[in-house]
Amino acid sequence: MSETEKPSNFIRHIIDADLASGKYAARRWSGRPGPAAQQKLGAGETVNIRTRFPPEPNGYLHFGHAKSICLNFGLARDYGGVCHLRFDDTNPEKEDQEYVDAIIGAVRWLGFDWGDDLYYASSYFQWMFEFAEKLVEAGHAYVDSQSAEEMRANRGTLTEPGKPSPFRTRSIAENLDLFRRMKAGEFADGTHILRAKIDMASPNINLRDPAIYRIRHATHHATGDAWCIYPMYTFAHPIEDALENITHSICTLEFEDQRPFYDWLLARLAELGCINTPPPQQIEFARLNLSYVVLSKRKLIQLVEEKHVGGWDDPRLPTLVGARRRGYTPEGFRNFAEMIGVTKSDSWIDISVLEECQRQHLNEVAPRRIAVLDPLKLLIDNYPDDSEELCEAPNHPQKPDWGKRPIPFSKELWIEREDFVETPPKGYFRLFPGNRVRLRYGFVIECTGCDKDANGNIIAVHCNYFPDSRSGTPGADNYKVKGNIHWLSARHAFAAEVRLYDRLFSVAAPGAGERDFVADLNPESLTVIHVQLEPALMEAAAEDRFQFERHGYFVVDHGDSRPGAPVFNRTVTLKDSWTNRK
Ligand code: ATP
Ligand code: MG
Repeated sequence: MSETEKPSNFIRHIIDADLASGKYAARRWSGRPGPAAQQKLGAGETVNIRTRFPPEPNGYLHFGHAKSICLNFGLARDYGGVCHLRFDDTNPEKEDQEYVDAIIGAVRWLGFDWGDDLYYASSYFQWMFEFAEKLVEAGHAYVDSQSAEEMRANRGTLTEPGKPSPFRTRSIAENLDLFRRMKAGEFADGTHILRAKIDMASPNINLRDPAIYRIRHATHHATGDAWCIYPMYTFAHPIEDALENITHSICTLEFEDQRPFYDWLLARLAELGCINTPPPQQIEFARLNLSYVVLSKRKLIQLVEEKHVGGWDDPRLPTLVGARRRGYTPEGFRNFAEMIGVTKSDSWIDISVLEECQRQHLNEVAPRRIAVLDPLKLLIDNYPDDSEELCEAPNHPQKPDWGKRPIPFSKELWIEREDFVETPPKGYFRLFPGNRVRLRYGFVIECTGCDKDANGNIIAVHCNYFPDSRSGTPGADNYKVKGNIHWLSARHAFAAEVRLYDRLFSVAAPGAGERDFVADLNPESLTVIHVQLEPALMEAAAEDRFQFERHGYFVVDHGDSRPGAPVFNRTVTLKDSWTNRK
């Protein structure tokens, strides 16, 4: 699909209408100084749209975030706009610089660029505080001194209205004094809270005087001990959007009930001359749910901390660092996001859809190589002991311009154990005594028997080859065989470690109902094997990707590989084997 013929969706319809009516082109600067993006508007800058991806730096990004990143950055790209990367770092206790760095790396890896538009909510704390003061002065906010339990009890329920706090009628002067003293550090955590004054009887609980500032004597990873009061997310987020001149603030559906507060707050701040108008518009879309995967930060942290996986970048985890180590590609994610689109209703996507998107891209970009994953010796009895010769294999069957590479051939080969049986089942066309097969890119051979150890295990297979049957020579056509197997010259191949990954969970909905999701972990999600690889793979560099013929797509592990000693991770099999497994 070309860039210009993207399928439309409800978000694009909203943007199209806003562009047609000139809604944001007519946006006016409030005249107040503000952060960089705000100053740009003051300086007369116009862009068609401004979106943002606003992660909280309290965990690593996962596949769900990839959907949001592709959506926000993709819209900005398609509409001649800008997408900001903004850290929503208003919650000091759970956030960390480690996460900030990892998030920057992951968004960049996905192929997106925010130019100069990298922002931190924490750098707006002074504006947020001043705006809160303005709300207090205008009678739109008050300091509540009820205990947390009292506040909860007075909040009401879905069917009953809330009860006004006895502190709701405090004077503006008293509110302002208390709020400033909260900031000055005079009070302990939880003793006072600043609330918006809206409507304790609203049918939308989120409008029953929501908390907007709380006391937290906590050190922030960016602002240190400069603040002991912190804005609530629902207060901070609309202000961040407004200060950055966001046009379309796209978020997941769970924020739908917060939209009335988002709009209320920005309307009040617009009246007070604090922000540019018209303010940004919040638009919700359905989050990504993937079968066989958990996408909750809390659960991912638990898997890492309890060591069910090897770390944040374990290739089985649905984190973007894990996906990268697994060999998934940014293009595969972008194609996936495009394919699933955006909707307003929650749904589940099968993980095999993402795997297929990865496979399609890998098919395009991965050179072919040969690996014997379960090696068994094959002895060519009529081949001279010390001879060797070179066969040729194409680097990509559909891309002749990628050329061919030499594959050494000699008397002792490695083949897959499963490519030989003593007594063939019906329809088995590979090696068994008396049968002929083609050694792919090499010769036709005829099997003569096998050797066994004292326990009856097969330890080697014997055959004779036909010297005039080599692939690519005129004689090759004289041999008609049904089986075609891959092989490596034992003298030239090298041993390596390969990790085969399977789904981390063995059920589609881990932790469904009352189950503990940890109980649904797949005990066979990782298998480490020792394999034989063709010589051309010896020099493979970290993150190089290949198709091992007949086995799937593999990537050089960037953590455990050493020069001349690559370790491979299987990214995905050649076909979706899981769906047919049960
Ligand atoms: P939490 O807020 O509980 O820490 P979160 O997953 O919402 O977790 P954020 O850092 O707030 O994490 O998310 C950043 C952005 O990614 C938000 O705009 C959020 O809506 C979006 N996002 C998160 N999870 C998904 C998902 N599964 N599908 C699509 N978008 C998502
Ligand atoms: Mg969130």
